[in-house]
Amino acid sequence: MDPNDQITLVRQLADNAGGAKGPRAATWLLVQHGGLVPELIRTGIITALPNSGTSYISWKAAADHCTTSFPGSAADAPRALDATDSELAILKLACTLTGYHAVDLYRLGWLDDRNRALATYAFAWATGGREYAHGLGLLTGLCDGCSWQPPYCACPQPEAPSSAPVRTPGLTVRSAS
Ligand SMILES: [Zn+2]
Repeated sequence: MDPNDQITLVRQLADNAGGAKGPRAATWLLVQHGGLVPELIRTGIITALPNSGTSYISWKAAADHCTTSFPGSAADAPRALDATDSELAILKLACTLTGYHAVDLYRLGWLDDRNRALATYAFAWATGGREYAHGLGLLTGLCDGCSWQPPYCACPQPEAPSSAPVRTPGLTVRSAS
């Protein structure tokens, strides 16, 4: 996808998440994970129309897919996601934040440092609000005003990201030490 289309897509997804904390945090989490978005588009969970309309996430479709993509799912399941255990754990947490099924906390223990920080941030966002999550200091490089990093941040006058070293563009996990 063209980088400009990617930016538009993410901003449309963020806008269409609405005002509730859960969907906003879940949308942020799916995008920040990174690797999931193309697969979510392929399977129709994300409708991506950055140039000709708007883009949005079907949380019902996401819940159906992530439930049936786990081992032991029904044979007549929707098209299975081609996703790693980490990606499925992130998707399942995102669905949980939107109210579609109960969280499998055991699988969350499989996440690596980066995805654990993303998941914790999103959970804190959904439970305590975005400013609460941001204030925990789990991640640096995010806009103080919206929690998206450049270029996804669309704040009129975005706060300058903090100057900590980054692992991915504009985003890094704070050391646990
Ligand atoms: Zn911002």
